[in-house]
Amino acid sequence: MILVKTIHQLQTILQYFRKNNQSIGFVPTMGALHEGHISLVNTSRRQTGITICSIFVNPTQFNSKTDFEKYPITIDDDINLLESAGCDVLFMPAVTEMYPAGEAAVHFELGFIETILEGKFRPGHFQGVCRIVDKLLTAVKPDALFMGQKDYQQCMVISQLLATRHQQVKLQVEETVREPDGLAMSSRNMRLDKSEREKAGHIIKALRTMKANLQPGDLSGLKANGEQYLKENGFEVDYIEIADSSTLEPVNTWNGKQQLVALVAAFVNEVRLIDNLLLTAPTADN
Ligand code: AMP
Repeated sequence: MILVKTIHQLQTILQYFRKNNQSIGFVPTMGALHEGHISLVNTSRRQTGITICSIFVNPTQFNSKTDFEKYPITIDDDINLLESAGCDVLFMPAVTEMYPAGEAAVHFELGFIETILEGKFRPGHFQGVCRIVDKLLTAVKPDALFMGQKDYQQCMVISQLLATRHQQVKLQVEETVREPDGLAMSSRNMRLDKSEREKAGHIIKALRTMKANLQPGDLSGLKANGEQYLKENGFEVDYIEIADSSTLEPVNTWNGKQQLVALVAAFVNEVRLIDNLLLTAPTADN
């Protein structure tokens, strides 16, 4: 695996791969890697000639200073994991490389999607996500971009970004990789102590219960029960919502046909976790 730290070094290497007509797959991450990230690398390796992974803890997408400061960093383990997975290039820029001093922030027109769920509870978060992904895509110019369904709304935001600014890039969304108890793998799980980790398993239970009890008609009871279940199990709930899976418009009355996704964000003490489940998909876990 080749490790590069500047956009210039990255582009020199990419030029060489492109001359050999290799298609390029890209997996952007914030590090503290786990099997969820590695599943994206594996898919990229199967589908493209060269796989580039980036590790960059992007300051502009954090709306909580503590969350940014406490974000886990495990660089040596990350490098080993990526090397074993067969990643070809790791791009690990410094903050000044991605955000040169004095640079003005571009504003991304995201519309409705930025006003709900993560957009509502983390103001400015998706602007920061778009800012960094736009810069990374401009530097890498991949053929395919691999992202996880775990960040459902982020995938929709990025799909909008690609449609407006990077039409040549194909987005591929991969299923959420879970721990044996169903907890979605997340870098933030590293911050949970033993009892918090046990509690965290209740998030997917709440979502699976919603899926099992879904019936056409009024969905308010299902949402309220999900919220109550999480609260009873010690969570502070930002939201637990059922929405149209292609627009993320909240759905209050289900016609039995519309495709639905349930999305949740909740705190176990200081750690904020998110997850989602497709309620109308045939498989159990995504
Ligand atoms: P992050 O490092 O958390 O910014 O995540 C980098 C990429 O990995 C994003 O596209 C995430 O959606 C994806 N990802 C994170 N957790 C998982 C998971 N448990 N399963 C699949 N993909 C994931």
